[in-house]
Amino acid sequence: MGDANGKGKDMVTREEYEILVNLVVEDLAEKGYDFSDVDITVSNRRTTRRLGTTWAHENRIILYHQVPGNTLDLAEDNIRHELAHILAWVRNPMDPVHHGLEWKAACLDLGANPKTINDHDGVVKYLSAANVRAWA
Ligand SMILES: [Zn+2]
Repeated sequence: MGDANGKGKDMVTREEYEILVNLVVEDLAEKGYDFSDVDITVSNRRTTRRLGTTWAHENRIILYHQVPGNTLDLAEDNIRHELAHILAWVRNPMDPVHHGLEWKAACLDLGANPKTINDHDGVVKYLSAANVRAWA
């Protein structure tokens, strides 16, 4: 795992993360899942828990690479995890359970671990002002 100030040697850089995003999107395209229109940003913002946030109805994902212990394996799983939120939403926009059966099925389709990882997960954040739903 990375050290407390986030400079562990296993830290995935922003550049590596962006390359990984492209590889995952290409891999899924070959498997018939087109995410080419999803707006995926790798943010430099430091977080301690949250690895990513998905706004499915906006087709938008933000990934955070400056998380201690963010290895390539975890980063790849996280990309697939967030894309599974998009796929689950496309399939069933009214599903109120964000790590529920629809999302788990999408994880299996996309090659993500269908379990929530650490405590970056399980949080449904309501941005009350705009009533925008975001998935972690
Ligand atoms: Zn999630």
